[in-house]
Amino acid sequence: MSEKNKKQSRREFLKKGAAFGAVSVLAGTGLSSSVLQAETSTEKLALLKDHSICIECYACRVACQNENGFPDIARTIEFESLEMGNYPDVEYHRARMSCFHCNDAPCIDVCPVDAIEKGYGELNITDIETCIGCEECVAACPFDVPQVVDEEMYKCNGCTHLVEKDEDPACVSTCPTYTLDFGTQREMAEQAEERIQELEAEGKEGYLYGLEAQDGLGLLMITTIEPDHFSLV
Ligand code: SF4
Ligand code: SF4
Ligand code: SF4
Repeated sequence: MSEKNKKQSRREFLKKGAAFGAVSVLAGTGLSSSVLQAETSTEKLALLKDHSICIECYACRVACQNENGFPDIARTIEFESLEMGNYPDVEYHRARMSCFHCNDAPCIDVCPVDAIEKGYGELNITDIETCIGCEECVAACPFDVPQVVDEEMYKCNGCTHLVEKDEDPACVSTCPTYTLDFGTQREMAEQAEERIQELEAEGKEGYLYGLEAQDGLGLLMITTIEPDHFSLV
């Protein structure tokens, strides 16, 4: 499916409110017609995760492992899930915990063999061949996301091998409820603000996380409670 058609599918899905009644209309969201225009490779790229429609099915993690050849034990996508309230009025809230592609990335600063570097669209990528498994990055990451398995460090690399070809990352194209999108950080922030306005119009809460932490992140999130409830910085 072309990128344009995929975006159209997401719009149609949200218009139908199919995500377990969690959403209504995502009208006029200004979804980018192309995920990556040639000139945007110099702009910071970002994933956008909309937790108001995530069902925590982990299809994203499986797609990530398959696409990138990561071992099953490497959980490149985790969720921090919070249960709020008392029975029967219990609400569940979650935040995706995977590499946030920090602008100010301590993992890059501490790696003794320069195995992590800024790549296409300022996505922070790991060279597994160079990694010596010392776990310095594990200790330095404020989000606790790098995982060392058999002396190799695994984390989200932003599927740069796909985005360089103008394709969406595997987790984005796999999510059955279209909770993920990908584009420039600026586009994703604009899209998030519009979505939050929709949620508020429906009497729901929505918060944008990621523009300020670590000097700006390459994984923005719409959370359904204030982000400081989670183990975020
Ligand atoms: S962007 Fe690619 S590497 Fe990162 S979590 Fe999604 S599928 Fe995995
Ligand atoms: S989230 Fe952690 S692993 Fe990812 S870029 Fe930031 S410091 Fe590095
Ligand atoms: S585990 Fe690998 S990527 Fe992390 S700091 Fe050590 S050598 Fe660098």
